[in-house]
Amino acid sequence: EHKLQKLSSFYESGIYSFDDSNAVFVDSVRVLNRFYHRFSVSSSVYYSRFFKTQTTPNAVSSTVTPSLRKRKRKRRESRPLNERELIALQRHQEARPLLLAAHKCLLKSTEVLNALKTLKSESSCSTKECDGGQRSFVDLGHVAPQLEVTLSLRVSDNDADPHPLPKDLDDLPSGQCCVEKVLRAFNNLVANDTLDDAVAQILSNSYIMPRESCFYMSDLGQIRNLIPAHADSGFNLIMVDPPWENASAHQKSRYQTLPNRYFLSLPIKQLTHAGGALVALWVTNREKLRCFIEAELFPTWGVSYAATFYWLKVKENGSLICDLDLFHHRPYECLILGYSPGKVNNTDNLSEFKPVKNDRVIMSIPGDYSRKPQIADLLLEHVPGLKPPRCIELFAREILAGWVAWGNEPLYFQDSKHFVKK
Ligand code: SAM
Repeated sequence: EHKLQKLSSFYESGIYSFDDSNAVFVDSVRVLNRFYHRFSVSSSVYYSRFFKTQTTPNAVSSTVTPSLRKRKRKRRESRPLNERELIALQRHQEARPLLLAAHKCLLKSTEVLNALKTLKSESSCSTKECDGGQRSFVDLGHVAPQLEVTLSLRVSDNDADPHPLPKDLDDLPSGQCCVEKVLRAFNNLVANDTLDDAVAQILSNSYIMPRESCFYMSDLGQIRNLIPAHADSGFNLIMVDPPWENASAHQKSRYQTLPNRYFLSLPIKQLTHAGGALVALWVTNREKLRCFIEAELFPTWGVSYAATFYWLKVKENGSLICDLDLFHHRPYECLILGYSPGKVNNTDNLSEFKPVKNDRVIMSIPGDYSRKPQIADLLLEHVPGLKPPRCIELFAREILAGWVAWGNEPLYFQDSKHFVKK
């Protein structure tokens, strides 16, 4: 009975919490699909990277052939570790028992494992090509900064009416209509403030926007335009996934990266709501980066460190995407959490919140390269200030309902090729 209830709540929310554990399994597609009414995110497209390549149980998703990888690893392993590598190893050893315990929960849970097998088959397979064009917004922003976006919104006379509009446009009852807005696509806050999905058209491409969401598409140089005039309209949850520099050639071809000093200038303090903000920062496993965040980045932002969460990546059969103890290629990434204090002595809008605790393990099947799992739900109870909180994602490549998405390609995963029509 209990198991059945948990499974049905997983199907509804996309999140499965294991009993007596800080581990959860997240199906990002289900989480995202709670935001849409007329469209749904195609799980076969979302998970294509993993479902396509899984043939042998030990396969590692990589462009490097296994033998070359092994030879490289052997060469590295034959020399003694330097000081930084030793610290990284110690960090890994500390996380290891926690990750293993979480993974054991998943492997023991036949109902979740069975559910994983069906993830791909659930929405009809999109036949469209999903690669390519990834740099197009960045290029377009340079060559055609005046480009326009046409937003098709379906609005209701009665704003208080919480019911979404019918799926078929021809069935719009009186009092509801379709409105088109033409807006500047770059350096502009483009909002779908309706309770329904909206379609944004740029040139001949369509992008789906979830209800009550905004995007601001610009280069880092324009981010200051998002700073609110009053701290009372700042943000309570700030999610950041910077384009960290990385040796991976694979990454270089996907998006432009920036040297660390650029991230010091992110206006985190100015974006923070008067009631404070939870800052969630995705990091890679490079020890040099972890030192930079602790010693320079968080202090410069005025953020105090609170906790670390782990994202453990699994395949559809529940196994890890690669060996847990590979030194230069871990099957997990970290989310560093901290608090940005907001205005001192601010008591307005202050609400109860649970300070975030260390060591949560989030398991999921990875989507496209560098796409992060949907974990906002797990953070909400730890967010200070307003309820519901005001949320912003920096360097976003997708748009969430109720959030502001900023980056130079926030529509990347909103392209209609990632969706199926319901
Ligand atoms: N969180 C995202 C996801 O789950 O898909 C991934 C973000 S990715 C690590 C970093 C993003 O920052 C990329 O979309 C990249 O194009 C963008 N970016 C790189 N340089 C930028 C700049 N100068 N200004 C704005 N965005 C930039």
